[in-house]
Amino acid sequence: MTVADATDETPLLSVRRLTKTFSVDGRWRARKLDVLRDVSFDVHAGEVVALVGESGSGKSTTARLIARLLPPSAGEIRFKGDNVLQSQPRRPTLAYRAHVQMIFQDPFSSLNPLHTIRYHLERPLRRHGKAGSRADLTTKVHRLLETVGLTPAEEFADKHPHQASGGQRQRVAIARALAVDPELILADEPTSMLDVSIRIDLLNLMRDLKVARRIGYLFITHDLGSARYFADRILVMYAGQIVESASSEALLDAPAHPYTQLLVAAVPSADSSIATGPVAAAGSGKPTASGVGCPFAERCPSVMDRCRTETPAAREVAPGHTASCHLY
Ligand code: SF4
Repeated sequence: MTVADATDETPLLSVRRLTKTFSVDGRWRARKLDVLRDVSFDVHAGEVVALVGESGSGKSTTARLIARLLPPSAGEIRFKGDNVLQSQPRRPTLAYRAHVQMIFQDPFSSLNPLHTIRYHLERPLRRHGKAGSRADLTTKVHRLLETVGLTPAEEFADKHPHQASGGQRQRVAIARALAVDPELILADEPTSMLDVSIRIDLLNLMRDLKVARRIGYLFITHDLGSARYFADRILVMYAGQIVESASSEALLDAPAHPYTQLLVAAVPSADSSIATGPVAAAGSGKPTASGVGCPFAERCPSVMDRCRTETPAAREVAPGHTASCHLY
């Protein structure tokens, strides 16, 4: 199927059994480590899917594979039905890069301090043929700045990144992504370096864009409060695997997997506030080399003998709610 053939029901993004294996130095010889194993999920147009987990759990690797910044070891990535690893095996097309944009945690590192904000916005507009004349370029830069709430746009365009606050720089990063009319945004911890009130403003902006432009988001966060506030669905990652998946409400109100239960219990006000602590109470969440049994077995309060030898498959614990655990 081509992009043009895709129907409304076709997910914007469909990831199947995505796996990334790295070689790590062992004592005698290199070992293989699955940083990501058999990760599968969909994101629909106008939907926010949060990928929640600790540092090292594989969230950012997932986004980088989808953005084609890293090659996967196995699996499938479909964009509007098109199998992009097959149709664009060596590198993504310019069109794919426009459709799938990425926003990073630290906007300062992705903005060149020597150039103005105008320069950063003109570049993608030019590269993707989104503006004709000089006047058109200027109008489009100003419109982008206004869309993300950076006004007066004429003044803001001539600032350098260091003259903007952290929240304003992240808005510039969003404006730059919007310059090429993306359908999917991979937002990798976009709010984690911001104060709570600025964080809410930024999530509100992203939500407005989701509604107005039907943008789908893969929202990567270690903050359950932000996930609850912004996401329609939450996927919980542990050691490179998705261990639970449900609507945000169902997952946080009735977490099924013991790992998710620990995460939710560690958040003092997950029911009402965005001002929550990071997902850190339940261990490192990094992949183990053995790959046998449940990845959470070493820390699980409900561990059974079979957990150490049999890898649990994802099972439906309620409609639309799955958990990978032998308790179900
Ligand atoms: Fe705990 Fe076993 Fe479930 Fe893993 S499979 S989360 S070890 S009960």
